[in-house]
Amino acid sequence: MLKENLTNVEKAVREACEKSARKRSEVTLIAVSKTKPTTLIQEIYDAGVRDFGENKVQELCEKYDRLPSDIRWHMIGHLQRNKVKYIIDKVCMIHSVDSYRLAEEINIQAKKHKLIMPILLEINIADEQTKFGITKEDAILLAEEVSQLDSVRVEGLMAVAPYTENPEDNRKYFKQIKKLAVDIQRKNIDNINMHALSIGMTGDYTVAIEEGSTMVRVGTGIFGERDYGTK
Ligand SMILES: *Cc1c(COP(=O)(O)O)cnc(C)c1O
Repeated sequence: MLKENLTNVEKAVREACEKSARKRSEVTLIAVSKTKPTTLIQEIYDAGVRDFGENKVQELCEKYDRLPSDIRWHMIGHLQRNKVKYIIDKVCMIHSVDSYRLAEEINIQAKKHKLIMPILLEINIADEQTKFGITKEDAILLAEEVSQLDSVRVEGLMAVAPYTENPEDNRKYFKQIKKLAVDIQRKNIDNINMHALSIGMTGDYTVAIEEGSTMVRVGTGIFGERDYGTK
């Protein structure tokens, strides 16, 4: 059954790429597996997916230990500084960097492990009180500050668009994110290359792809509804 979900999502991704004259290889499908058991993740892995997204440190670490080592784990949730050390050698990218202090801690831990951590700056695109992320205005400043850290590499922007029934409602936000990435790129800040846009979730990923997304984070569309009740 999950495999059928995945086939449908993959088809929609392809169609959105075709519609916007983009190559399928420009868009990474990240299967967001938070709250889902390893058996189901293995099912999606066996169907060929290698990029998985988690939003909690402990859950990510547990799954990391139990699942194949060639999975690329993406940290997509709010990250506390004191927990960076647990995931620094387990994830391929941290999407949710929203402060200099967090970037600084990632830099310290990355250096310890002699690695360079790719990160995205999380933008609170609709200025929602309930969401994490920095404002568009603060993004350029943060990019400039973070560019000084030599063990993190800013690769782009991430945003969680508002929940909506109609994905077209979010097109304007995706356009704004794309524009912001271009604006930051034009500043030619050392060490910063804004090529990645982590935008689009189950409700709006096709629109996000049409507007330039390079990473869509799809949970419900692949794994079905999440059940938080038993956790
Ligand atoms: C849960 C989550 C997703 C996936 O959401 P769906 O609507 O289930 O696709 C994507 N991004 C982030 C940051 C999330 O926390």
